[in-house]
Amino acid sequence: MSERIYLFDTTLRDGEQSPGYGMTAEQKLVLARQLEELGVDVIEAGFPAASPEDLSGVRQIACAVKHARVAALARCNDGDIDAAARGLEPAERGRLHLFFGTSQLHLQHKTGLDRDAALDLIVRSVRRGKRLFSELEFSPEDATRTDEDFLIRVVQAVVDEGVQVVNIPDTVGYTVPEEYTRRIRLLKERVRGIEGVILSTHCHNDLGLAVANSLAAIQAGARQVECTINGIGERAGNASLEEIVTALRVREDCLPFTTSVRHELLYQTSQLLSALTGVSTQPNKAIVGRNAFAHESGVHQQGLLKDRRTYEIMTPESVGAPPSQLVLGRHSGRRALAARLTELGYTLSAAELNHVYDRFLKACEVGKALDDDDLIALALDNRPPPEPPYAINLVQATAGTVKPATATVQLTRGGETFAACALGDGPVDAAYSAVDTITGYPTQVVEYELRAVGTGRDTEGEVLVRVQIADKTFSGRAVDTDIVAASVKAYLSAVNKALSVRNQIRPPQVAAAKRAPQIIQQL
Ligand code: MN
Repeated sequence: MSERIYLFDTTLRDGEQSPGYGMTAEQKLVLARQLEELGVDVIEAGFPAASPEDLSGVRQIACAVKHARVAALARCNDGDIDAAARGLEPAERGRLHLFFGTSQLHLQHKTGLDRDAALDLIVRSVRRGKRLFSELEFSPEDATRTDEDFLIRVVQAVVDEGVQVVNIPDTVGYTVPEEYTRRIRLLKERVRGIEGVILSTHCHNDLGLAVANSLAAIQAGARQVECTINGIGERAGNASLEEIVTALRVREDCLPFTTSVRHELLYQTSQLLSALTGVSTQPNKAIVGRNAFAHESGVHQQGLLKDRRTYEIMTPESVGAPPSQLVLGRHSGRRALAARLTELGYTLSAAELNHVYDRFLKACEVGKALDDDDLIALALDNRPPPEPPYAINLVQATAGTVKPATATVQLTRGGETFAACALGDGPVDAAYSAVDTITGYPTQVVEYELRAVGTGRDTEGEVLVRVQIADKTFSGRAVDTDIVAASVKAYLSAVNKALSVRNQIRPPQVAAAKRAPQIIQQL
């Protein structure tokens, strides 16, 4: 019989307070609703004493969340505890999460208290909390670097005061699984009445061990695990929720524990957090990363086509992710290329395939994986030569606080030069309209992503854009120190792909209408 593990999600507190992940009150509310839908047991909504905005954010979540418990963080002082009480006042099930740094480093440099004075303050704060809350959790901050005997004294004191949950945080991501296991077992052996409380784990990922340490703690007897969506959190982040719950499910044979999470919502929740914060996960992120179910090696692809279990320990569907992708790159074989092209509707003769495969390998030498559009372009190269692509001659845009922005674009194609200027809602929009005017092929931009490559003010901008024409999408990517130029290069690369398969798709009806001959100028 599997034992139940309680999930304490701290994306909105530990996660939100890390650089780049700040959210508005409305965004927090959207995520809190998703977390409740996902089925977490406790949502740590924030740190009400931090600012009036934090307090009102916690109040809004406390009002909206009905099934999960809502927790608020507080230091051991009256002001923090009272702020938490105001924040959680509307909650159906509120929990005060008190913490105090108990390691020698924290005692010396944060509070300047000796151990007895610290213990005294902790007990007084727990008593005040008990008067205002029916449910209390206590965290001896930096527990994994706290003197063992003192940690036992602190945990004994808060257990005696009647807290329901004792969290043993690895605040700085310092511990290793075996040491953490020992510490939790020690508390179970030495603290009287500990069987009546829920032991909890809160691990940071500074050494990449947050999930491993959390699982070790569960095996040692912890029954609550604190974690975040996408593993976000201070510094290297917290233990990732999706990794923990999936490890428990996939390895139920040696980790016989269950959670109340709806696994099929994991991917969606991860995507929502990325969309709200504008920060995507790294491609190789376990469970929810773009490459988590992508296969490029030909050997792997062949195995996978015969039986998915050869290279997948779980299905993408089980975590709500899109189907496995067979990405074609220089590790893919001729057969995988032929299979993909057939799926895309291009059946080639053996000679054609040889020709396309050679070109495919050449394209791969540049070091990139080829998407479906690239493959179609390669396959079509066997047929009458496609129209030559447009190249950029000049891009100039003016932008600022005065609207609208303007852009002038000059493109060359097959020895001819075309120019157009356009107005737009910002320089990128204006430049894209100018390109559309020249090509006579307006598209719908379905995805636009701009990110900095490197740091500092002279960093380069990388733009990824996906455009849709009829029911097909084409993507382009480009890098430039000028973000408008990068945007146009990326856009043009996508549009060129679209033009190269123009005979495959119906040109958009609006093309003729949108063409504005009076401002298009052939040079
Ligand atoms: Mn933390």
